[in-house]
Amino acid sequence: MSAYTITYIKNENKKEKPDFDNLAFGKYFTDHMFILDYSEQKEWHNARIVPYKPLQLDPAAIVFHYGQTVFEGLKAYKTKSGDIQLFRPNKNMERLNRSNERMCIPEIDEEFAIEAIKNLVEIDKDWVPDAPGTSLYIRPFIISTEPYLGVSPSSTYQFIIILSPVGAYYEEGINPVRIAVENEFVRAVKGGTGEAKTAGNYASSLKAQEMVSNKGYAQVLWLDGIEKKYIEEVGSMNVFFVINDEVITPELNGSILNGVTRNSVITLLNHWNIPVKERKITMEEIYEYAQNGELKEAFGAGTAAVISPIGELSWNDKKIEINDGKTGKISFDLYETLTGIQYGRDEDIFDWIVKVKF
Ligand SMILES: *Cc1c(COP(=O)(O)O)cnc(C)c1O
Repeated sequence: MSAYTITYIKNENKKEKPDFDNLAFGKYFTDHMFILDYSEQKEWHNARIVPYKPLQLDPAAIVFHYGQTVFEGLKAYKTKSGDIQLFRPNKNMERLNRSNERMCIPEIDEEFAIEAIKNLVEIDKDWVPDAPGTSLYIRPFIISTEPYLGVSPSSTYQFIIILSPVGAYYEEGINPVRIAVENEFVRAVKGGTGEAKTAGNYASSLKAQEMVSNKGYAQVLWLDGIEKKYIEEVGSMNVFFVINDEVITPELNGSILNGVTRNSVITLLNHWNIPVKERKITMEEIYEYAQNGELKEAFGAGTAAVISPIGELSWNDKKIEINDGKTGKISFDLYETLTGIQYGRDEDIFDWIVKVKF
Protein backbone atom coordinates (compact mmCIF):
# COMPACT_ATOMS: atom_id res chain seq x y z
CA MET A 1 0.00 0.00 0.00
CA SER A 2 2.92 2.28 0.56
CA ALA A 3 6.47 2.68 -0.63
CA TYR A 4 7.71 1.41 2.71
CA THR A 5 8.30 -2.19 3.65
CA ILE A 6 8.66 -3.17 7.26
CA THR A 7 11.55 -5.43 8.18
CA TYR A 8 11.12 -7.65 11.22
CA ILE A 9 13.65 -8.88 13.73
CA LYS A 10 11.98 -11.32 16.07
CA ASN A 11 12.63 -11.13 19.79
CA GLU A 12 14.08 -14.54 20.67
CA ASN A 13 14.09 -13.72 24.39
CA LYS A 14 10.42 -13.16 25.07
CA LYS A 15 9.65 -11.57 28.41
CA GLU A 16 7.63 -13.23 31.07
CA LYS A 17 4.11 -11.78 30.90
CA PRO A 18 2.94 -9.71 33.89
CA ASP A 19 -0.09 -10.75 35.92
CA PHE A 20 -2.90 -9.67 33.58
CA ASP A 21 -5.19 -9.18 36.60
CA ASN A 22 -2.94 -6.46 38.03
CA LEU A 23 -1.80 -4.41 35.07
CA ALA A 24 -2.52 -0.85 36.18
CA PHE A 25 -1.61 1.70 33.46
CA GLY A 26 1.52 1.98 31.34
CA LYS A 27 3.84 -0.14 33.48
CA TYR A 28 4.54 -3.12 31.23
CA PHE A 29 5.72 -3.17 27.64
CA THR A 30 5.52 -5.90 25.01
CA ASP A 31 8.29 -7.82 23.22
CA HIS A 32 8.60 -5.61 20.14
CA MET A 33 8.57 -2.00 19.02
CA PHE A 34 8.26 -0.25 15.66
CA ILE A 35 10.83 2.33 14.49
CA LEU A 36 10.94 4.57 11.42
CA ASP A 37 13.83 6.99 10.85
CA TYR A 38 13.86 10.44 9.25
CA SER A 39 16.74 12.30 7.69
CA GLU A 40 16.63 15.25 5.29
CA GLN A 41 18.18 13.20 2.47
CA LYS A 42 16.10 10.05 2.83
CA GLU A 43 12.96 11.48 4.50
CA TRP A 44 11.07 8.74 6.40
CA HIS A 45 12.86 5.40 5.86
CA ASN A 46 14.01 2.11 7.38
CA ALA A 47 10.72 0.90 8.84
CA ARG A 48 11.38 -1.95 11.21
CA ILE A 49 9.86 -4.00 14.01
CA VAL A 50 12.57 -5.00 16.44
CA PRO A 51 12.88 -6.37 19.98
CA TYR A 52 11.77 -3.82 22.61
CA LYS A 53 14.88 -2.29 24.10
CA PRO A 54 16.35 1.03 25.33
CA LEU A 55 17.19 3.63 22.70
CA GLN A 56 20.68 4.94 22.11
CA LEU A 57 20.63 8.69 21.68
CA ASP A 58 23.22 11.42 21.73
CA PRO A 59 22.99 13.38 25.01
CA ALA A 60 22.73 16.55 22.91
CA ALA A 61 19.63 15.24 21.05
CA ILE A 62 17.16 18.11 20.70
CA VAL A 63 14.33 16.19 22.33
CA PHE A 64 16.12 16.20 25.71
CA HIS A 65 16.67 19.94 25.77
CA TYR A 66 13.86 21.64 23.90
CA GLY A 67 11.12 19.02 23.85
CA GLN A 68 10.49 18.87 20.12
CA THR A 69 8.33 15.76 20.29
CA VAL A 70 4.74 14.60 19.79
CA PHE A 71 2.75 11.56 20.86
CA GLU A 72 -0.55 9.76 20.44
CA GLY A 73 -2.58 7.35 22.53
CA LEU A 74 -5.09 4.73 21.39
CA LYS A 75 -6.04 1.17 22.30
CA ALA A 76 -6.46 -2.30 20.80
CA TYR A 77 -9.43 -4.21 22.22
CA LYS A 78 -10.06 -7.96 22.23
CA THR A 79 -13.62 -9.01 21.40
CA LYS A 80 -15.46 -12.01 22.79
CA SER A 81 -14.78 -13.95 19.59
CA GLY A 82 -11.04 -13.28 19.92
CA ASP A 83 -10.72 -10.54 17.29
CA ILE A 84 -8.44 -7.62 18.02
CA GLN A 85 -9.65 -4.22 16.94
CA LEU A 86 -8.70 -0.55 16.92
CA PHE A 87 -11.04 2.41 17.53
CA ARG A 88 -10.82 5.24 14.95
CA PRO A 89 -7.01 5.05 14.48
CA ASN A 90 -7.29 7.36 11.46
CA LYS A 91 -8.37 10.17 13.84
CA ASN A 92 -5.25 9.66 15.96
CA MET A 93 -2.97 9.72 12.94
CA GLU A 94 -4.64 12.86 11.55
CA ARG A 95 -4.07 14.49 14.91
CA LEU A 96 -0.46 13.28 15.02
CA ASN A 97 0.14 15.19 11.80
CA ARG A 98 -1.57 18.29 13.18
CA SER A 99 0.72 18.06 16.22
CA ASN A 100 3.69 17.54 13.86
CA GLU A 101 2.77 20.65 11.92
CA ARG A 102 2.70 22.75 15.10
CA MET A 103 6.02 21.34 16.34
CA CYS A 104 7.90 21.64 12.99
CA ILE A 105 8.18 17.84 12.67
CA PRO A 106 7.90 16.34 9.16
CA GLU A 107 4.54 14.84 8.23
CA ILE A 108 4.11 11.08 8.35
CA ASP A 109 2.05 8.87 6.02
CA GLU A 110 -1.12 8.29 8.07
CA GLU A 111 -2.17 5.10 6.31
CA PHE A 112 1.28 3.64 6.65
CA ALA A 113 1.36 4.51 10.33
CA ILE A 114 -1.91 2.57 10.81
CA GLU A 115 -0.37 -0.38 8.91
CA ALA A 116 2.62 -0.21 11.25
CA ILE A 117 0.32 -0.25 14.30
CA LYS A 118 -1.60 -3.25 12.95
CA ASN A 119 1.60 -5.13 12.15
CA LEU A 120 3.08 -4.52 15.57
CA VAL A 121 -0.14 -5.43 17.42
CA GLU A 122 -0.41 -8.60 15.35
CA ILE A 123 3.14 -9.64 16.26
CA ASP A 124 2.51 -8.97 19.96
CA LYS A 125 -1.10 -10.21 19.95
CA ASP A 126 -0.50 -12.48 22.96
CA TRP A 127 -0.13 -9.28 24.98
CA VAL A 128 -3.69 -8.09 24.36
CA PRO A 129 -5.48 -8.89 27.64
CA ASP A 130 -9.08 -10.09 27.50
CA ALA A 131 -10.53 -9.51 30.98
CA PRO A 132 -13.40 -6.98 30.97
CA GLY A 133 -12.17 -3.39 30.62
CA THR A 134 -8.57 -4.33 29.84
CA SER A 135 -6.85 -3.44 26.57
CA LEU A 136 -3.52 -2.97 24.83
CA TYR A 137 -2.54 0.71 24.98
CA ILE A 138 -0.72 1.92 21.85
CA ARG A 139 1.73 4.79 22.17
CA PRO A 140 3.06 6.18 18.87
CA PHE A 141 5.51 9.08 19.31
CA ILE A 142 8.12 11.08 17.43
CA ILE A 143 11.38 12.36 18.90
CA SER A 144 13.91 14.84 17.52
CA THR A 145 17.30 13.12 17.54
CA GLU A 146 19.80 15.58 16.06
CA PRO A 147 22.65 16.40 18.47
CA TYR A 148 22.50 20.21 18.47
CA LEU A 149 22.11 22.78 21.24
CA GLY A 150 20.88 25.58 19.00
CA VAL A 151 17.15 26.23 19.26
CA SER A 152 15.92 25.09 15.87
CA PRO A 153 14.00 22.14 14.40
CA SER A 154 15.91 18.89 14.26
CA SER A 155 17.07 17.48 10.91
CA THR A 156 16.60 13.88 12.12
CA TYR A 157 13.73 12.11 13.90
CA GLN A 158 12.49 8.71 14.95
CA PHE A 159 8.84 7.66 14.84
CA ILE A 160 8.41 4.88 17.39
CA ILE A 161 5.43 2.77 18.47
CA ILE A 162 5.38 0.91 21.78
CA LEU A 163 2.59 -1.19 23.30
CA SER A 164 1.49 -1.60 26.91
CA PRO A 165 -1.19 -3.98 28.25
CA VAL A 166 -3.39 -1.94 30.61
CA GLY A 167 -5.89 -2.87 33.30
CA ALA A 168 -9.51 -1.80 33.57
CA TYR A 169 -9.71 1.91 34.35
CA TYR A 170 -12.67 1.24 36.63
CA GLU A 171 -12.08 -1.76 38.87
CA GLU A 172 -15.63 -1.73 40.18
CA GLY A 173 -17.62 -0.04 37.44
CA ILE A 174 -17.70 3.57 36.27
CA ASN A 175 -17.26 5.85 39.25
CA PRO A 176 -17.43 9.65 39.79
CA VAL A 177 -14.35 11.61 40.87
CA ARG A 178 -13.73 14.86 42.77
CA ILE A 179 -12.26 17.71 40.73
CA ALA A 180 -10.68 21.02 41.80
CA VAL A 181 -10.95 24.10 39.58
CA GLU A 182 -7.43 25.45 39.00
CA ASN A 183 -7.20 29.23 39.46
CA GLU A 184 -3.45 29.77 39.49
CA PHE A 185 -1.74 27.59 36.90
CA VAL A 186 -2.90 27.24 33.29
CA ARG A 187 -2.48 24.34 30.88
CA ALA A 188 -2.32 26.19 27.60
CA VAL A 189 -3.04 29.49 25.88
CA LYS A 190 -4.31 30.38 22.45
CA GLY A 191 -1.28 30.59 20.18
CA GLY A 192 0.59 28.12 22.39
CA THR A 193 0.77 24.35 21.99
CA GLY A 194 -2.43 23.24 23.78
CA GLU A 195 -3.90 21.78 20.61
CA ALA A 196 -0.83 19.59 20.04
CA LYS A 197 -0.15 16.37 21.96
CA THR A 198 3.36 17.41 22.89
CA ALA A 199 5.41 16.66 26.01
CA GLY A 200 5.71 20.22 27.32
CA ASN A 201 1.97 20.52 27.94
CA TYR A 202 2.10 17.57 30.32
CA ALA A 203 5.32 18.61 32.06
CA SER A 204 3.76 22.01 32.79
CA SER A 205 0.59 20.41 34.17
CA LEU A 206 2.35 18.33 36.82
CA LYS A 207 2.57 21.05 39.47
CA ALA A 208 -1.14 21.80 39.57
CA GLN A 209 -1.95 18.10 39.54
CA GLU A 210 0.45 17.45 42.42
CA MET A 211 -1.05 20.25 44.51
CA VAL A 212 -4.66 19.10 44.15
CA SER A 213 -3.94 15.41 44.57
CA ASN A 214 -2.41 16.25 47.95
CA LYS A 215 -5.86 17.59 48.87
CA GLY A 216 -7.67 14.46 47.70
CA TYR A 217 -8.82 15.54 44.25
CA ALA A 218 -8.44 13.28 41.22
CA GLN A 219 -7.74 16.01 38.65
CA VAL A 220 -7.86 19.74 38.00
CA LEU A 221 -10.39 21.58 35.87
CA TRP A 222 -8.39 23.92 33.64
CA LEU A 223 -9.58 27.43 32.87
CA ASP A 224 -8.48 29.55 29.90
CA GLY A 225 -5.00 31.04 30.14
CA ILE A 226 -5.97 34.69 29.66
CA GLU A 227 -9.06 35.56 31.69
CA LYS A 228 -9.14 32.37 33.80
CA LYS A 229 -12.88 32.41 33.30
CA TYR A 230 -13.69 29.94 30.57
CA ILE A 231 -13.61 26.18 31.13
CA GLU A 232 -11.15 24.29 28.90
CA GLU A 233 -10.44 20.68 29.96
CA VAL A 234 -10.37 18.34 32.95
CA GLY A 235 -6.95 16.78 33.59
CA SER A 236 -6.03 15.37 30.19
CA MET A 237 -9.62 14.85 29.13
CA ASN A 238 -12.21 16.99 27.37
CA VAL A 239 -15.13 18.06 29.53
CA PHE A 240 -18.93 17.98 29.11
CA PHE A 241 -21.82 19.32 31.20
CA VAL A 242 -25.48 18.29 31.09
CA ILE A 243 -27.64 21.37 31.67
CA ASN A 244 -31.31 20.40 31.90
CA ASP A 245 -31.83 18.37 28.71
CA GLU A 246 -28.92 19.80 26.77
CA VAL A 247 -25.23 18.87 26.72
CA ILE A 248 -22.55 21.56 26.42
CA THR A 249 -18.81 21.33 25.89
CA PRO A 250 -16.16 24.03 25.38
CA GLU A 251 -15.69 24.86 21.69
CA LEU A 252 -12.29 24.11 20.18
CA ASN A 253 -10.46 27.40 20.47
CA GLY A 254 -6.81 26.69 19.71
CA SER A 255 -5.80 25.77 23.25
CA ILE A 256 -8.07 22.75 23.78
CA LEU A 257 -6.93 19.30 22.64
CA ASN A 258 -9.27 17.92 19.98
CA GLY A 259 -10.13 14.53 21.50
CA VAL A 260 -11.25 11.49 19.52
CA THR A 261 -13.53 10.55 22.45
CA ARG A 262 -14.94 14.11 22.47
CA ASN A 263 -15.78 13.81 18.78
CA SER A 264 -17.33 10.35 19.33
CA VAL A 265 -19.45 11.63 22.25
CA ILE A 266 -20.79 14.51 20.12
CA THR A 267 -21.58 12.08 17.27
CA LEU A 268 -23.46 9.73 19.62
CA LEU A 269 -25.45 12.53 21.27
CA ASN A 270 -26.48 13.81 17.84
CA HIS A 271 -27.48 10.28 16.88
CA TRP A 272 -29.64 10.04 20.03
CA ASN A 273 -31.21 13.43 19.30
CA ILE A 274 -29.86 14.87 22.53
CA PRO A 275 -29.05 18.54 21.86
CA VAL A 276 -25.31 19.21 22.16
CA LYS A 277 -23.65 22.61 21.86
CA GLU A 278 -19.96 23.47 21.49
CA ARG A 279 -19.55 26.94 22.97
CA LYS A 280 -17.69 29.05 25.50
CA ILE A 281 -18.63 28.13 29.08
CA THR A 282 -17.61 30.10 32.17
CA MET A 283 -17.13 28.60 35.62
CA GLU A 284 -19.49 31.33 36.92
CA GLU A 285 -22.20 30.00 34.65
CA ILE A 286 -21.73 26.37 35.78
CA TYR A 287 -21.96 27.54 39.39
CA GLU A 288 -25.25 29.36 38.64
CA TYR A 289 -26.67 26.31 36.88
CA ALA A 290 -25.74 24.19 39.88
CA GLN A 291 -27.39 26.67 42.30
CA ASN A 292 -30.58 26.57 40.22
CA GLY A 293 -30.64 22.79 40.06
CA GLU A 294 -30.03 22.83 36.31
CA LEU A 295 -26.60 21.16 36.30
CA LYS A 296 -27.53 17.50 35.99
CA GLU A 297 -24.24 15.79 35.07
CA ALA A 298 -20.60 16.55 34.27
CA PHE A 299 -17.98 14.23 32.86
CA GLY A 300 -14.54 14.02 31.28
CA ALA A 301 -13.97 12.16 27.99
CA GLY A 302 -10.71 10.59 26.81
CA THR A 303 -9.22 7.31 25.59
CA ALA A 304 -7.97 6.10 28.99
CA ALA A 305 -11.19 6.33 31.04
CA VAL A 306 -13.60 6.74 28.08
CA ILE A 307 -16.12 8.61 30.31
CA SER A 308 -15.15 9.88 33.77
CA PRO A 309 -18.15 11.28 35.68
CA ILE A 310 -17.51 14.27 37.96
CA GLY A 311 -19.20 13.90 41.33
CA GLU A 312 -17.91 17.10 42.90
CA LEU A 313 -16.36 20.35 41.72
CA SER A 314 -14.45 22.52 44.14
CA TRP A 315 -14.13 26.18 43.07
CA ASN A 316 -12.43 28.64 45.43
CA ASP A 317 -14.29 28.05 48.71
CA LYS A 318 -17.39 26.70 46.97
CA LYS A 319 -18.27 23.03 46.62
CA ILE A 320 -20.61 21.89 43.89
CA GLU A 321 -22.05 18.42 44.27
CA ILE A 322 -23.26 16.95 40.98
CA ASN A 323 -26.03 14.35 40.74
CA ASP A 324 -25.52 13.44 44.43
CA GLY A 325 -22.02 12.28 43.54
CA LYS A 326 -23.43 9.49 41.38
CA THR A 327 -23.01 8.57 37.71
CA GLY A 328 -25.76 10.17 35.62
CA LYS A 329 -27.76 8.50 32.87
CA ILE A 330 -26.15 10.26 29.91
CA SER A 331 -22.64 9.59 31.27
CA PHE A 332 -23.50 5.93 31.80
CA ASP A 333 -25.17 5.46 28.40
CA LEU A 334 -22.19 7.06 26.64
CA TYR A 335 -19.78 4.83 28.54
CA GLU A 336 -21.75 1.67 27.78
CA THR A 337 -22.19 2.49 24.10
CA LEU A 338 -18.60 3.58 23.44
CA THR A 339 -17.11 0.58 25.23
CA GLY A 340 -19.76 -1.62 23.57
CA ILE A 341 -18.51 -0.57 20.15
CA GLN A 342 -14.84 -0.78 21.17
CA TYR A 343 -15.15 -4.35 22.51
CA GLY A 344 -17.45 -5.49 19.70
CA ARG A 345 -20.51 -6.03 21.94
CA ASP A 346 -22.49 -3.43 20.00
CA GLU A 347 -22.87 -2.90 16.29
CA ASP A 348 -20.31 -0.53 14.75
CA ILE A 349 -22.90 1.77 13.18
CA PHE A 350 -20.48 4.63 12.50
CA ASP A 351 -17.73 2.51 10.90
CA TRP A 352 -15.31 3.37 13.69
CA ILE A 353 -13.69 -0.05 14.07
CA VAL A 354 -10.53 -1.19 12.24
CA LYS A 355 -9.75 -4.88 12.67
CA VAL A 356 -6.23 -6.18 13.14
CA LYS A 357 -6.06 -9.20 10.85
CA PHE A 358 -4.13 -12.39 11.50
C1 LIG B 1 -5.24 12.99 24.68
C2 LIG B 1 -5.94 14.13 25.35
C3 LIG B 1 -7.34 14.24 25.40
C4 LIG B 1 -8.29 13.17 24.97
O1 LIG B 1 -8.13 12.79 23.65
P1 LIG B 1 -8.66 11.37 23.17
O2 LIG B 1 -8.32 11.37 21.73
O3 LIG B 1 -10.11 11.35 23.41
O4 LIG B 1 -7.93 10.34 23.96
C5 LIG B 1 -7.91 15.40 25.94
N1 LIG B 1 -7.12 16.36 26.46
C6 LIG B 1 -5.79 16.26 26.47
C7 LIG B 1 -4.98 17.37 27.05
C8 LIG B 1 -5.15 15.15 25.92
O5 LIG B 1 -3.83 15.05 25.96
